[in-house]
Amino acid sequence: MQHQKISRPDRPNTLTSPVWTVNVGPAPQTDCLSGTHEVDVLVIGGGIAGTTTALHLAEKGVSVILVEAQQFGDGATGQSGGIVAPDYIRHSPETIGAVLGEPAGERLTGMIGGSGQHLFDLIDRQGIECDARQDGFYTPSHTEALAEQQRGYAAQWRSRGYNVSFVEGAEARPLFGANRYCGALRFEDGGGLNPLAFVRGLARAAQRNGARLYTNSPVSRLERKDGYWLCRTPIGTVRAQRLVLAANGGNAALHPAMQRTSLPLHVFQFASFPLDPAQRKVILPDGGGFTDKLPYLFTARLDGLGHLISAFPMSFMVNGDKGYYREARRRLKQHFDVMPDPQIAHLWRGLAWVNTSFLPEIYDLGDNAIAIQACNGRGIATNTVIGSEVATMLATGDRDALSVRPRAPVPVRFHAGAALLPRLLMSMAYLTN
Ligand SMILES: Cc1cc2nc3c(=O)[nH]c(=O)nc-3n(C[C@H](O)[C@H](O)[C@H](O)COP(=O)(O)OP(=O)(O)OC[C@H]3O[C@@H](n4cnc5c(N)ncnc54)[C@H](O)[C@@H]3O)c2cc1C
Repeated sequence: MQHQKISRPDRPNTLTSPVWTVNVGPAPQTDCLSGTHEVDVLVIGGGIAGTTTALHLAEKGVSVILVEAQQFGDGATGQSGGIVAPDYIRHSPETIGAVLGEPAGERLTGMIGGSGQHLFDLIDRQGIECDARQDGFYTPSHTEALAEQQRGYAAQWRSRGYNVSFVEGAEARPLFGANRYCGALRFEDGGGLNPLAFVRGLARAAQRNGARLYTNSPVSRLERKDGYWLCRTPIGTVRAQRLVLAANGGNAALHPAMQRTSLPLHVFQFASFPLDPAQRKVILPDGGGFTDKLPYLFTARLDGLGHLISAFPMSFMVNGDKGYYREARRRLKQHFDVMPDPQIAHLWRGLAWVNTSFLPEIYDLGDNAIAIQACNGRGIATNTVIGSEVATMLATGDRDALSVRPRAPVPVRFHAGAALLPRLLMSMAYLTN
């Protein structure tokens, strides 16, 4: 008997737009900046960091203008996986003390531990429709040694009042539908959302509160003149007393002190076709999302339409559109037995910027200017809080409003070479996967 290969007519084989564009309302109405404007605070960048800063400033009655080079969410925010992860990337509540000192470490732990709840409360308060689901975030353990360490991390978070537990192997595997793991750290306050819908909702809320937002307005020149910040876009000018750089990797082109302070991490993010009922029963049946700790890390979550969303880092080993689709299918097949022939509906490229500390950073640039620095591939929840704290600090003048102590920017040494490191490390990780 001859088997006919069934192919989906709409199966793409080149890069697509992010899956988030499928299930999102229209972008807020905005103009491009034209003419001359005066304002107290100018925010540059319309991702999560910039829009939350503008929203909270406007709520506090501060006059604020935000300029975005393209559209809201066109940077890392709209390219992201939308996982709400109230956890450190490389630290725990106790190990961070050795890096920052105890009071600063505890302060940052409070911010990160509370960031999931903060974000979901904000979504509720502003009535933002963004497929938000507070159904947990997991860090699975792939070795018993990591499981043991994570049992300790769960206790550290719990002793500080956060809803974090360790799920043992036999209970953890059915939560994911993947057999690779021997347990998982569970953050009850985490979850997921449509990041494009979220940032558009934040922008709309900022406008409602009186912030002036402009899109398609790339800042081409920023200078200090007569005690003010003067910002030029192709057909507009803003004169501001204070400045917030929230352009992520774009900060480097805006202020000389920001040059060479972060490293690019290229990621391919993808979404399967909506899972069928049998797959749905097995893969993340209770929802939630996870990111593991393997060097060639794996991440997964479901959106409200049943797409399975995952990612792989760019390496020198996987090339060309066909190769990217092949790799996306391999990753799903490798993790989920119930997906012997995964089909990919969306696959897009993203650019995350990382600090060498892997911690959220705020840079003090002097002259009433600060920068919210790099996203570390983990900024959905933390940058939402940072935006709100920066706004409080600017409205009240109280630097203690910030959980991240601002410091002077420091360029990464041997930056040109270091910028290749993430891709090189991911190539080595690919080979061991
Ligand atoms: C592929 C990928 C997956 C990710 N997945 C997750 C995840 O699942 N969970 C998580 O927590 N985090 C994730 N992240 C990280 C997360 O997306 C970021 O931390 C967060 O969105 C950063 O927000 P931001 O506002 O700082 O930066 P951005 O969203 O990058 O916003 C910066 C904005 O500044 C604008 N801009 C730049 N230059 C200029 C200029 N000269 N003039 C005007 N505007 C300018 C850009 O157009 C952009 O819109 C991911 C990132 C990537 C790339």
